[in-house]
Amino acid sequence: MRTAPRSAPNARSLRPAREELRSARDALYSAPGMNTSLPWSGWWRRPGPPGAVRDGRLSMVCNVCGACSTCPLDELQREAPPCPGCGSTVRQRAIIHLLSSHFFAASLALPDFPLRPDLRGAGMSDWEGFARPLARRLGYTNTYYYKEPRLDITQPPADWLGTLDFLISSDVLEHVAPPVSRAFVHARELLKPGGLFLLTVPWVPDGDTREHFPDLFVYDLSGPETGTPVLRNRTRAGERQEFRDLVFHGGAGATLEMRMFSRAGVWRELTQAGFTNIRLHDADHLPFGIHWQHPWSLPLTAQAPA
Ligand SMILES: [Zn+2]
Repeated sequence: MRTAPRSAPNARSLRPAREELRSARDALYSAPGMNTSLPWSGWWRRPGPPGAVRDGRLSMVCNVCGACSTCPLDELQREAPPCPGCGSTVRQRAIIHLLSSHFFAASLALPDFPLRPDLRGAGMSDWEGFARPLARRLGYTNTYYYKEPRLDITQPPADWLGTLDFLISSDVLEHVAPPVSRAFVHARELLKPGGLFLLTVPWVPDGDTREHFPDLFVYDLSGPETGTPVLRNRTRAGERQEFRDLVFHGGAGATLEMRMFSRAGVWRELTQAGFTNIRLHDADHLPFGIHWQHPWSLPLTAQAPA
Protein backbone atom coordinates (compact mmCIF):
# COMPACT_ATOMS: atom_id res chain seq x y z
CA MET A 1 0.00 0.00 0.00
CA ARG A 2 1.37 3.41 -0.95
CA THR A 3 1.24 6.28 1.47
CA ALA A 4 1.12 9.93 0.58
CA PRO A 5 4.50 11.62 0.95
CA ARG A 6 4.79 14.02 3.83
CA SER A 7 4.73 17.59 2.58
CA ALA A 8 7.25 20.14 3.76
CA PRO A 9 5.72 23.46 4.86
CA ASN A 10 7.16 25.35 1.91
CA ALA A 11 5.81 22.68 -0.51
CA ARG A 12 2.30 23.10 0.97
CA SER A 13 2.37 26.81 0.33
CA LEU A 14 3.23 26.16 -3.33
CA ARG A 15 0.41 23.66 -3.89
CA PRO A 16 -2.18 26.01 -5.51
CA ALA A 17 0.38 27.29 -8.00
CA ARG A 18 1.49 23.75 -8.81
CA GLU A 19 -2.08 22.59 -9.35
CA GLU A 20 -2.68 25.51 -11.67
CA LEU A 21 0.47 24.62 -13.55
CA ARG A 22 -0.58 20.97 -13.81
CA SER A 23 -4.05 21.76 -15.16
CA ALA A 24 -2.59 24.18 -17.69
CA ARG A 25 -0.11 21.53 -18.82
CA ASP A 26 -2.88 18.89 -19.04
CA ALA A 27 -4.90 21.23 -21.24
CA LEU A 28 -1.86 21.76 -23.44
CA TYR A 29 -1.05 18.08 -23.83
CA SER A 30 -4.64 17.12 -24.53
CA ALA A 31 -4.80 19.42 -27.57
CA PRO A 32 -5.88 17.25 -30.53
CA GLY A 33 -2.98 15.66 -32.35
CA MET A 34 -0.33 17.10 -30.06
CA ASN A 35 2.85 15.23 -29.48
CA THR A 36 3.68 15.35 -25.80
CA SER A 37 7.39 14.75 -26.30
CA LEU A 38 8.06 18.12 -27.90
CA PRO A 39 10.49 20.38 -26.08
CA TRP A 40 8.14 22.75 -24.29
CA SER A 41 10.63 25.18 -22.83
CA GLY A 42 8.94 28.53 -22.48
CA TRP A 43 5.46 27.20 -23.24
CA TRP A 44 3.91 29.22 -20.39
CA ARG A 45 4.89 32.45 -22.10
CA ARG A 46 2.73 31.73 -25.14
CA PRO A 47 -0.66 33.38 -25.25
CA GLY A 48 -2.34 29.98 -25.67
CA PRO A 49 -1.64 26.31 -26.19
CA PRO A 50 -0.74 25.24 -29.75
CA GLY A 51 -3.85 25.29 -31.88
CA ALA A 52 -5.64 27.90 -29.76
CA VAL A 53 -6.96 31.01 -31.48
CA ARG A 54 -7.28 34.09 -29.29
CA ASP A 55 -8.28 37.47 -30.64
CA GLY A 56 -7.78 36.06 -34.12
CA ARG A 57 -4.18 34.94 -33.45
CA LEU A 58 -3.21 31.31 -33.74
CA SER A 59 -0.65 29.86 -31.34
CA MET A 60 1.34 27.20 -33.15
CA VAL A 61 4.38 24.99 -32.98
CA CYS A 62 6.34 24.39 -36.17
CA ASN A 63 6.47 20.65 -36.84
CA VAL A 64 9.74 21.11 -38.77
CA CYS A 65 11.87 23.00 -36.24
CA GLY A 66 9.79 23.06 -33.04
CA ALA A 67 9.64 26.87 -32.81
CA CYS A 68 6.62 28.36 -31.08
CA SER A 69 4.98 31.40 -32.62
CA THR A 70 1.71 33.18 -33.11
CA CYS A 71 0.18 34.44 -36.33
CA PRO A 72 -3.11 36.07 -37.31
CA LEU A 73 -5.14 33.07 -38.48
CA ASP A 74 -6.60 34.91 -41.45
CA GLU A 75 -3.07 35.76 -42.69
CA LEU A 76 -1.94 32.13 -42.78
CA GLN A 77 -1.66 31.19 -46.45
CA ARG A 78 -0.24 28.20 -48.33
CA GLU A 79 3.12 29.97 -48.83
CA ALA A 80 3.22 32.60 -46.08
CA PRO A 81 4.03 33.79 -43.56
CA PRO A 82 7.11 31.64 -42.94
CA CYS A 83 7.87 30.06 -39.56
CA PRO A 84 10.15 32.51 -37.69
CA GLY A 85 12.35 29.55 -36.69
CA CYS A 86 13.03 27.80 -40.00
CA GLY A 87 11.00 29.53 -42.69
CA SER A 88 8.58 26.62 -43.25
CA THR A 89 5.25 27.33 -44.91
CA VAL A 90 1.83 25.75 -44.47
CA ARG A 91 2.53 23.57 -47.54
CA GLN A 92 5.81 22.28 -46.14
CA ARG A 93 4.41 21.64 -42.67
CA ALA A 94 1.46 19.83 -44.27
CA ILE A 95 3.87 17.45 -46.04
CA ILE A 96 5.51 16.50 -42.72
CA HIS A 97 2.08 16.21 -41.09
CA LEU A 98 0.75 13.90 -43.83
CA LEU A 99 3.93 11.82 -43.94
CA SER A 100 3.88 11.31 -40.17
CA SER A 101 0.15 10.61 -40.07
CA HIS A 102 0.52 7.94 -42.75
CA PHE A 103 3.53 6.06 -41.41
CA PHE A 104 3.29 6.66 -37.66
CA ALA A 105 -0.49 7.00 -37.24
CA ALA A 106 0.12 10.29 -35.41
CA SER A 107 1.15 13.77 -36.41
CA LEU A 108 4.67 13.99 -34.97
CA ALA A 109 6.99 16.94 -35.29
CA LEU A 110 10.01 16.10 -37.42
CA PRO A 111 12.49 16.16 -34.48
CA ASP A 112 10.31 13.48 -32.86
CA PHE A 113 10.17 11.14 -35.86
CA PRO A 114 11.44 7.68 -34.91
CA LEU A 115 14.72 6.55 -36.40
CA ARG A 116 13.58 4.46 -39.37
CA PRO A 117 16.39 4.10 -41.91
CA ASP A 118 14.47 1.13 -43.32
CA LEU A 119 11.71 3.48 -44.50
CA ARG A 120 12.95 4.43 -47.96
CA GLY A 121 11.82 7.64 -49.53
CA ALA A 122 12.83 10.32 -51.99
CA GLY A 123 12.05 13.94 -52.59
CA MET A 124 12.03 15.80 -55.88
CA SER A 125 13.95 19.02 -55.15
CA ASP A 126 12.36 19.19 -51.71
CA TRP A 127 12.87 22.22 -49.51
CA GLU A 128 16.18 21.66 -47.69
CA GLY A 129 14.66 22.92 -44.44
CA PHE A 130 12.86 19.62 -43.99
CA ALA A 131 14.92 17.47 -46.36
CA ARG A 132 18.04 17.50 -44.15
CA PRO A 133 16.34 16.54 -40.86
CA LEU A 134 14.17 14.01 -42.71
CA ALA A 135 17.30 12.32 -44.09
CA ARG A 136 18.61 11.99 -40.53
CA ARG A 137 15.46 10.15 -39.35
CA LEU A 138 14.40 8.04 -42.34
CA GLY A 139 16.03 6.34 -45.32
CA TYR A 140 15.22 9.44 -47.34
CA THR A 141 17.17 11.04 -50.19
CA ASN A 142 16.44 14.40 -51.67
CA THR A 143 17.00 14.40 -55.44
CA TYR A 144 17.59 17.09 -58.02
CA TYR A 145 17.11 17.64 -61.70
CA TYR A 146 20.47 19.34 -62.31
CA LYS A 147 22.83 17.74 -59.76
CA GLU A 148 23.45 14.51 -57.88
CA PRO A 149 21.65 12.65 -56.54
CA ARG A 150 19.82 13.22 -59.80
CA LEU A 151 16.29 12.16 -60.59
CA ASP A 152 14.55 13.06 -63.82
CA ILE A 153 11.00 11.92 -63.22
CA THR A 154 10.49 11.58 -66.98
CA GLN A 155 13.37 9.05 -67.13
CA PRO A 156 13.95 7.55 -63.68
CA PRO A 157 16.86 5.09 -63.31
CA ALA A 158 15.71 1.50 -63.73
CA ASP A 159 17.33 0.40 -60.47
CA TRP A 160 15.17 2.87 -58.53
CA LEU A 161 11.87 1.38 -59.70
CA GLY A 162 9.81 -0.32 -57.01
CA THR A 163 12.22 0.68 -54.23
CA LEU A 164 10.49 3.56 -52.41
CA ASP A 165 8.08 3.54 -49.49
CA PHE A 166 7.28 7.17 -50.25
CA LEU A 167 7.91 9.84 -52.83
CA ILE A 168 7.45 13.56 -52.16
CA SER A 169 6.80 15.87 -55.08
CA SER A 170 6.00 19.37 -53.92
CA ASP A 171 5.27 22.03 -56.52
CA VAL A 172 7.42 20.34 -59.16
CA LEU A 173 5.12 18.64 -61.67
CA GLU A 174 3.78 21.94 -62.98
CA HIS A 175 7.31 22.54 -64.33
CA VAL A 176 7.84 19.16 -66.04
CA ALA A 177 7.80 19.28 -69.83
CA PRO A 178 4.73 17.71 -71.44
CA PRO A 179 3.36 15.10 -71.58
CA VAL A 180 3.12 15.21 -67.78
CA SER A 181 1.30 11.87 -67.66
CA ARG A 182 4.60 10.00 -67.91
CA ALA A 183 5.80 11.72 -64.71
CA PHE A 184 2.77 10.41 -62.83
CA VAL A 185 3.34 6.90 -64.21
CA HIS A 186 7.02 6.96 -63.22
CA ALA A 187 6.12 8.26 -59.76
CA ARG A 188 3.92 5.20 -59.28
CA GLU A 189 6.59 2.90 -60.72
CA LEU A 190 9.21 4.21 -58.27
CA LEU A 191 7.06 3.11 -55.33
CA LYS A 192 6.88 -0.26 -53.69
CA PRO A 193 3.42 -1.86 -53.64
CA GLY A 194 1.34 0.28 -51.27
CA GLY A 195 3.97 3.06 -51.32
CA LEU A 196 2.84 6.64 -50.69
CA PHE A 197 2.95 9.46 -53.22
CA LEU A 198 2.76 12.83 -51.47
CA LEU A 199 1.93 15.47 -54.03
CA THR A 200 1.39 19.20 -54.10
CA VAL A 201 0.91 21.24 -57.25
CA PRO A 202 -0.91 24.50 -57.79
CA TRP A 203 -4.39 23.63 -59.06
CA VAL A 204 -7.65 25.40 -59.71
CA PRO A 205 -10.93 23.93 -58.50
CA ASP A 206 -12.82 24.03 -61.82
CA GLY A 207 -12.35 23.04 -65.43
CA ASP A 208 -9.52 21.02 -66.89
CA THR A 209 -5.73 21.31 -66.73
CA ARG A 210 -4.44 24.02 -69.06
CA GLU A 211 -1.24 23.06 -70.86
CA HIS A 212 0.61 26.26 -71.81
CA PHE A 213 2.84 24.56 -74.41
CA PRO A 214 1.09 21.35 -75.44
CA ASP A 215 3.25 20.78 -78.53
CA LEU A 216 6.63 21.25 -76.88
CA PHE A 217 9.19 19.07 -78.67
CA VAL A 218 12.56 20.68 -79.38
CA TYR A 219 12.66 23.90 -77.42
CA ASP A 220 14.93 26.54 -76.03
CA LEU A 221 14.37 29.13 -73.35
CA SER A 222 16.35 32.31 -73.69
CA GLY A 223 16.58 35.55 -71.82
CA PRO A 224 15.00 34.78 -68.42
CA GLU A 225 17.97 36.47 -66.74
CA THR A 226 17.45 39.69 -68.70
CA GLY A 227 13.77 39.95 -67.91
CA THR A 228 12.57 39.27 -71.46
CA PRO A 229 12.32 35.48 -71.61
CA VAL A 230 11.32 33.82 -74.85
CA LEU A 231 10.46 30.17 -75.34
CA ARG A 232 11.10 28.93 -78.89
CA ASN A 233 9.77 25.55 -79.89
CA ARG A 234 9.76 23.30 -82.93
CA THR A 235 6.78 20.96 -82.80
CA ARG A 236 6.93 17.33 -83.79
CA ALA A 237 5.29 18.33 -87.08
CA GLY A 238 8.06 20.90 -87.72
CA GLU A 239 6.04 24.01 -86.94
CA ARG A 240 7.97 26.80 -85.22
CA GLN A 241 6.41 28.50 -82.19
CA GLU A 242 7.44 31.38 -80.00
CA PHE A 243 6.04 32.19 -76.56
CA ARG A 244 6.70 35.41 -74.65
CA ASP A 245 3.93 35.46 -72.07
CA LEU A 246 5.74 33.15 -69.64
CA VAL A 247 5.15 32.52 -65.94
CA PHE A 248 8.04 31.62 -63.64
CA HIS A 249 7.81 30.37 -60.06
CA GLY A 250 10.34 31.74 -57.62
CA GLY A 251 13.05 32.28 -60.22
CA ALA A 252 13.75 31.66 -63.86
CA GLY A 253 14.82 28.88 -66.19
CA ALA A 254 13.82 25.53 -64.74
CA THR A 255 10.92 27.07 -62.87
CA LEU A 256 8.90 27.90 -65.97
CA GLU A 257 5.25 27.08 -65.41
CA MET A 258 4.30 24.52 -68.05
CA ARG A 259 0.68 24.11 -67.01
CA MET A 260 -1.99 25.02 -64.53
CA PHE A 261 -3.53 21.87 -63.17
CA SER A 262 -7.17 21.60 -62.28
CA ARG A 263 -8.50 19.46 -59.48
CA ALA A 264 -10.13 17.08 -61.98
CA GLY A 265 -6.94 17.06 -64.07
CA VAL A 266 -4.70 16.03 -61.17
CA TRP A 267 -7.19 13.38 -60.12
CA ARG A 268 -7.33 11.99 -63.65
CA GLU A 269 -3.53 11.83 -63.95
CA LEU A 270 -3.26 9.93 -60.66
CA THR A 271 -6.04 7.54 -61.65
CA GLN A 272 -4.66 6.90 -65.15
CA ALA A 273 -1.18 6.31 -63.73
CA GLY A 274 -2.59 3.45 -61.66
CA PHE A 275 -2.66 5.03 -58.22
CA THR A 276 -5.25 3.96 -55.66
CA ASN A 277 -6.58 5.49 -52.46
CA ILE A 278 -6.31 9.02 -53.87
CA ARG A 279 -7.09 11.59 -51.21
CA LEU A 280 -7.24 15.35 -51.13
CA HIS A 281 -6.35 16.83 -47.75
CA ASP A 282 -8.35 19.91 -46.81
CA ALA A 283 -8.36 19.44 -43.03
CA ASP A 284 -6.60 22.01 -40.86
CA HIS A 285 -4.15 20.96 -38.17
CA LEU A 286 -3.91 24.14 -36.18
CA PRO A 287 -1.42 23.04 -33.48
CA PHE A 288 1.19 22.82 -36.27
CA GLY A 289 -0.03 25.94 -38.04
CA ILE A 290 -1.66 24.11 -40.93
CA HIS A 291 -4.69 26.06 -42.09
CA TRP A 292 -6.21 26.18 -45.55
CA GLN A 293 -7.84 29.47 -46.48
CA HIS A 294 -8.92 28.34 -49.95
CA PRO A 295 -10.31 25.16 -51.52
CA TRP A 296 -7.58 24.93 -54.15
CA SER A 297 -3.93 23.81 -54.44
CA LEU A 298 -4.41 21.50 -51.46
CA PRO A 299 -2.05 18.55 -50.97
CA LEU A 300 -2.93 15.08 -52.21
CA THR A 301 -1.80 11.60 -51.34
CA ALA A 302 -2.16 8.46 -53.41
CA GLN A 303 -0.78 4.96 -53.13
CA ALA A 304 0.71 2.45 -55.51
CA PRO A 305 -1.52 -0.63 -55.67
CA ALA A 306 -0.68 -3.10 -52.90
ZN1 LIG B 1 9.98 26.12 -38.17
